[in-house]
Amino acid sequence: MWHTRINTALKEQKKRDRYRQQSVCTTNSSSVSIQVDQNHYFNFSSNDYLGLAHHPQMIASAVDSAKALGVGSGGSPHVTGYSASLSGLEAKLASWLGYEAAIVYPSGFTANQAVIKLMIEQNDLMIADRLSHASLLEAAVFSKGRLFRFKHNDCQSLKSYLDKPLPENAGRLVITEGVFSMDGDHAPLKEIKALTDQYDHTLLMIDDAHGIGIFGEGGRGSCDLYGIKPDILVVTFGKAFGCSGAALLLSEELKAYFIQFSKPLIYSTAISPMQAAILDRGIDLIASKEGDQKRAKLKENITYFRAKVESLLQEVAQKDSNMTLPYLLASQSPIQPLIIGSDQAALEISKKLRDNGIWVSAIRPPTVPPNTARLRITITAEHSLIMIDTLILALQNAIYEQFLG
Ligand SMILES: *Cc1c(COP(=O)(O)O)cnc(C)c1O
Repeated sequence: MWHTRINTALKEQKKRDRYRQQSVCTTNSSSVSIQVDQNHYFNFSSNDYLGLAHHPQMIASAVDSAKALGVGSGGSPHVTGYSASLSGLEAKLASWLGYEAAIVYPSGFTANQAVIKLMIEQNDLMIADRLSHASLLEAAVFSKGRLFRFKHNDCQSLKSYLDKPLPENAGRLVITEGVFSMDGDHAPLKEIKALTDQYDHTLLMIDDAHGIGIFGEGGRGSCDLYGIKPDILVVTFGKAFGCSGAALLLSEELKAYFIQFSKPLIYSTAISPMQAAILDRGIDLIASKEGDQKRAKLKENITYFRAKVESLLQEVAQKDSNMTLPYLLASQSPIQPLIIGSDQAALEISKKLRDNGIWVSAIRPPTVPPNTARLRITITAEHSLIMIDTLILALQNAIYEQFLG
């Protein structure tokens, strides 16, 4: 039985051209150059947007802490894993982001699931943007409550679900993201906050995995940029922090509730003092003048990249072609999706880029809607303009071959 089930599923993936394979990637001195199978590439798929993964101060924090305190926490935060470094990190996060409290989880995936698992009971309603991250949607689907998915960034659609009558003793949890991971666009956070505020028994949860460190004053994220404070803010450390882990920002009361009842917190090993020390330094760097400089360079790179791609696409559009041409989504974030359309064309172009020393992943359904297979290009502060020029040149060749033959 098991063998048949597993083999059928694997075969089906292959038949649909969706078979996923992992590549062993090595980044030696910077996330923007990677080595895969002895070949070197400029990396345009990294989430290390500010280049902190290789920052000497981050590395020094890791080494100093490891030497003094070891490399493991030795237990769950409820037993002996709650180190002074971790406690200090939570306090620093809360004060940096203007919340009463913070709780650190080992990953964003776990943090998102922890919120839904604990908060949602039978009859509760979850109203989530249709493009929400898999960690949120998966937890919502398996929870006891009811999930409604509103049209992407559409407040009218959100309102239509908020207007549904609420069963007695039930609550609503509205879920969206600061920056969407596959489209790179912002949610209209001000409007969403104003709308949810009009409803009783309604909490707002924002996952700002891709916004923290990048947007807002001193890198405080998308909510700072839009001047709102959701009931639960999720920040993750695998992107701009260049490390891993996540935190919930919330009230003292909610934190107490999580400490009592959140199983992913109670039954999982706490992050090490070393990781807490790295993240502590990460906040300092992100909030510093150097952080501002990195964000300015990132912005310059994004603007430069967009102008170059737009002019390339205009050039292609003027040539004779009866095919649907690629287009760039309107994104001001490091995530710059170039929509190609068919799965096959996206794969083809990604392969041609690789042949030219550029690493960009093709993202295909079911991660994105059908016929919107794309190159998910990420621009970081570490790219030089020459690297971006190299990418544009390779894109130009690949697009000309693919669409103009
Ligand atoms: C990356 C990501 C997560 C998961 O965070 P990890 O720390 O990588 O587990 C959650 N939400 C969004 C929107 C993300 O992009």
